[in-house]
Amino acid sequence: ADIAIHNATASNPLGDPPGVYLNYNELPEGPCPAARKAMVDAIPHAGRYSHNMVSEMQKTLAQDLGVSPEWLLIYPGSGSLLKLAPHAFTSSSRPLVIASPGYEDCVRGAKSAGSPITEVPLLDSGAHDIDAMLQKPAGLLYICNPNNPTGTVTPHDKLVQAIERTPADTIIIVDEAYIHFSNQPSVIPLIASHPNLVVMRTFSKVYGMAGVRCGFAVGRPDVLASLKQFAGDPELSVLAAVGCTASLKQPNLVAERKLLNAKRRDKTMQWLTQQGFTCMPSETNFFMVDVKRPTQDVVNGLLQKGVHVSNRWKMLPTTLRVSVGTEQDMAAFRLAFAEVMGLKGS
Ligand code: PLP
Repeated sequence: ADIAIHNATASNPLGDPPGVYLNYNELPEGPCPAARKAMVDAIPHAGRYSHNMVSEMQKTLAQDLGVSPEWLLIYPGSGSLLKLAPHAFTSSSRPLVIASPGYEDCVRGAKSAGSPITEVPLLDSGAHDIDAMLQKPAGLLYICNPNNPTGTVTPHDKLVQAIERTPADTIIIVDEAYIHFSNQPSVIPLIASHPNLVVMRTFSKVYGMAGVRCGFAVGRPDVLASLKQFAGDPELSVLAAVGCTASLKQPNLVAERKLLNAKRRDKTMQWLTQQGFTCMPSETNFFMVDVKRPTQDVVNGLLQKGVHVSNRWKMLPTTLRVSVGTEQDMAAFRLAFAEVMGLKGS
């Protein structure tokens, strides 16, 4: 069975002070037992470069996704690829178009590339406003589905419309970092018929390997080649390659973790709703809750009780983002939240 160690221990070798870390959308179980074993077994061999293991991983991943291995660019984290993508696909006259609030890595990339950024507010439902986004001139259109930080989804038919209507000379990135937690179909099958579509995925979320660093882009080899100009040849660690390969070979891992996450998430969201707070619907391993007052005092209050949550979004001044931890973490969150908010009966 999965063992959650990160948050439960008083201290850990990563040097984090003891606490409940619900601020980075990590999976508390960490790598599955098979991945842990594969990585431990590989340590004595880690003095060598990892070419064989990386190509083995590429084959396993290609099979898992139903694409050819050349359609993958595997990298130490999809965040790096997202920061590089604007260098490849935007310019001073071809902006990045992104939802607001959205995941910021492409914005960082566009800033360092000196390209303009057009932000389009999400709809009230939390879905991307596809019609408004498509009206904006773009070199790169970025859609995160499900979206970070809101946890909300854009309906599949709207996403397909976005892919079909994006002009051929604009690249559309669909970031599926959290797709495994959701009930949404992937858009990877559309890549074969839509050369300008790139899908980003990561092993940091459902596979619990954020610290191992592995993510990837799926796309046509010629499109990936433009990204590779800036990304360089992938330099994946041998530990990442064996850990990810082992994870991919666990047939029930994703389904089990999806279920466990939903159970823990929904219990706390229901509790918050009973206490009179509104949560955005979530299909991810995090959710947003409106605390009905400026968030900084709440964040600080929770921090004093060792509970870390996030509130980085200026356009959502009363909303916290809470990642889903273990059952024990969520109980600690509920207790600390009740105390900080002065809820009756706490
Ligand atoms: N995309 C989204 C939407 C994310 O939330 C994250 C991490 O939080 C990433 C990409 C980057 O993941 P990594 O660089 O760990 O692969």
